[in-house]
Amino acid sequence: MVTTESIPLFRHYPGLSERLPYISLGEFPTPIDRLTNLGASAGSDKLYIKREDQSGRVYGGNKIRKLEFLLAEALQSGAKEVLTFGAAGSNHCLATAIYARKLGLRSISMLIPQPNARNISQNLLMGYHQGAELHHYNNSFLVKLETKYQLLKHRLKTGRFPYVIPPGGSSPLGVVGTVNAAFELKEQVREGVMPEPDRIYVAFSTMGTATGLMLGLAAAKMKSRVICVRTAEKKLVTEEKLRTLFNRTSSWLHSLDASFPNLRYPEMSLEINDDFFGEEYGLFTREAVSAMKLIKEKEGITLEGTYT
Ligand SMILES: *Cc1c(COP(=O)(O)O)cnc(C)c1O
Repeated sequence: MVTTESIPLFRHYPGLSERLPYISLGEFPTPIDRLTNLGASAGSDKLYIKREDQSGRVYGGNKIRKLEFLLAEALQSGAKEVLTFGAAGSNHCLATAIYARKLGLRSISMLIPQPNARNISQNLLMGYHQGAELHHYNNSFLVKLETKYQLLKHRLKTGRFPYVIPPGGSSPLGVVGTVNAAFELKEQVREGVMPEPDRIYVAFSTMGTATGLMLGLAAAKMKSRVICVRTAEKKLVTEEKLRTLFNRTSSWLHSLDASFPNLRYPEMSLEINDDFFGEEYGLFTREAVSAMKLIKEKEGITLEGTYT
């Protein structure tokens, strides 16, 4: 049951708990670790990591926060299936398949190709194992076309249209999950888990995570700056899209609970870092591979190469 106590965002804005669909799926708050060894080798004694990878017992990552809202709405709508999109190795599609299934929903993944790597076949196999229906198309134009066909086909089969989740779960409702993450961080800072961060680095692809964090930090009156490290093609990851998503989410939350501030996209505080993007999305760069090795060796943390 949703109560005003469920999550930090609802504790701050009880009005939102009455109006937003929400179902608890993950293990929150995610812990914060101090990276003493990695920090020492990078010349900083104030390096921390928020372990979003530990957000779920079966499967973690940043998508669970979004799915707690999106799948709650899917259930509310009476859908029997969810349909979503991603590249072949999409963490989002896999997380959706796993958590949808827990709630008794089937999932349909509309996938496009990406460079091959071990984690791609792992994710595909795990998704298949979770009973997800996997469809593969050569490009996103075909996906658009075929989505209509799949929606109709499933409507005829089950009597209901599948609930559609955008790529990465980055709709205003999905973004609310990461707005909540900022309030969660604020509580951890208040409890003394870590000092208020100067900068928060996030990998940046469908932009929901960065958008929600920026909005949440501003609403929570925290001063941390968000640095978005771009991992996808420039034409897909634009400041214009981020601004639209930010403003839509903010004014929507304000309309649901007037005590949530109606913030406008902050032109000044955004920083997009383009330095680490390789030739294409999902193609590991040499730097990413050595970064994965370094954090494994110094801190025992396993990362992957698409977002590292
Ligand atoms: C999806 C994903 C991201 C990017 O988050 P967006 O909200 O799509 O920008 C970063 N890291 C990992 C591991 C992811 O799976």
